[in-house]
Amino acid sequence: MKRIQNFINGEYCDPQAGNYIDNVEPATGEVYCLIPDSTEEDVAMAVAAAEKAFPIWSGMTGEERGAILMRISLGIEKRMDEFVAAESRDNGKPLSLAAHVDIPRAVSNFHFFATAAEHVSSESHYMEGVGVNYTTRKPIGIVGCISPWNLPLYLFSWKIAPALASGNCVIAKPSEITPYTAYLLGEVIKESGMPAGVLNIIHGTGQYAGDAIVKHPKIKAISFTGGTKTGEYIARTAAPMFKKLSLELGGKNPNIIFADCDFDEMIKTTVRSSFANQGQICLCGSRIFVERSLYDKFKTAFVERVSKLTVSHPTDPNAKMGAVVSEPHMEKVLSYIELAKQEGGTVLTGGNRVHLEAPYNNGFYIAPTVIEGLAYDCRTNQEEIFGPVVTITPFDTEEEALMMANSTVYGLSATVWTSDLKRAHRVADNVQAGIVWLNCWLVRDLRTPFGGVKASGVGREGGWEAMRFFTEAKNVLVTF
Ligand code: NAD
Repeated sequence: MKRIQNFINGEYCDPQAGNYIDNVEPATGEVYCLIPDSTEEDVAMAVAAAEKAFPIWSGMTGEERGAILMRISLGIEKRMDEFVAAESRDNGKPLSLAAHVDIPRAVSNFHFFATAAEHVSSESHYMEGVGVNYTTRKPIGIVGCISPWNLPLYLFSWKIAPALASGNCVIAKPSEITPYTAYLLGEVIKESGMPAGVLNIIHGTGQYAGDAIVKHPKIKAISFTGGTKTGEYIARTAAPMFKKLSLELGGKNPNIIFADCDFDEMIKTTVRSSFANQGQICLCGSRIFVERSLYDKFKTAFVERVSKLTVSHPTDPNAKMGAVVSEPHMEKVLSYIELAKQEGGTVLTGGNRVHLEAPYNNGFYIAPTVIEGLAYDCRTNQEEIFGPVVTITPFDTEEEALMMANSTVYGLSATVWTSDLKRAHRVADNVQAGIVWLNCWLVRDLRTPFGGVKASGVGREGGWEAMRFFTEAKNVLVTF
């Protein structure tokens, strides 16, 4: 069976302790490759390589670093089909989604931050009659980037590209559930001319490899995307070591629909914002609040469309939804559907595991599920499910919609549908979220700040926010 390897000091290598863990294909439920179960020894090797590489990488000009990142972007693009197939197989998502979203976005992430490396500038502050301050921004040194399984290469590259563009050396760990495209990236890195040791990719569990990254004293910053519980643990571990932290965590995003919206556009987009990637996007709207006068019309049209979404294996060109990422995750999602029923919810469509024909009969498929009749403050409506399950709830006033939308511990994103301009901006202003979409969803501009409030995280990624996170500012004042 194929064994994937770590990528340390510019070379693929086996884990020091020689241990591997299974990598399961969600579409079939079968183990299809083994991944290193790395430990602190592997992290220590990577840090030693990064330490050697840092003077070389940070000593390059932004233009030189940008040129290498651009070659990585082109290198992924050149091998698009291979990356797409690997992402889809590893994650269970339809091939078409990996081909249109995941891998093109990884290409864009490297491209975008390659140009940022050339355009970066720092501030100066003139003090009348006193002097001038100027601020330098230097790379931090060695940084750790830890990413989740839902958008594997997309989110992995979203972190490492700005970290590298700003001159840091990186120890990166993809999710042990979806390691394959990060493994393939090593080949592109080799061909790009990046000096050995600048980017090191360690595979393994959060418990061992992830924890070793967070605890290593020479890793000075941690950029993490994943669950809120894990983020809390990382914050608790890293804060006493005064590490810089960027935490992109869970969500329970509201989708607020007013009766005066463009119905056709809203319904089409709401199906997508509920079930794209099997509902496993941190930005999916899982709580749908609909103005009462529109509720019945919405419910009929929405349930009709959702019940027609084809759930199939990822290579089926008709698949609108593939497998969820793992058996434990499938069980978790199904348990929340049971909880919703206990809490008084009515399943309007879905609610069950889907069994496909062999060889996909043991795959992790769940029918897209719509539930109504739940209180806004019940567990189903408060806890992150992160699967193909949404609830629909009517509201009577804007105040009530906002109260329900803001009632969770989370605050990542929100979507608002209305053609009343003032109301759109008012609701955007009052909804507790780091990202708000008005009459659209998941339209991304890589320059904008990305991240959440409350238990959805600390800090922002994207554009200059990311470049600033991965640098240390020093202010110098010279008097007249
Ligand atoms: P997770 O927290 O279980 O794992 C994320 C990563 O952290 C993995 O690489 C894992 O190995 C590692 N990890 C786990 N425990 C660790 C530890 N103790 N120390 C160091 N590393 C550790 O999350 P997941 O299940 O992979 O991803 C799903 C979660 O990610 C959801 O909650 C989702 O909302 C969130 N997410 C957030 C965003 C965002 O931008 N805010 C984006 C995507 C996903």
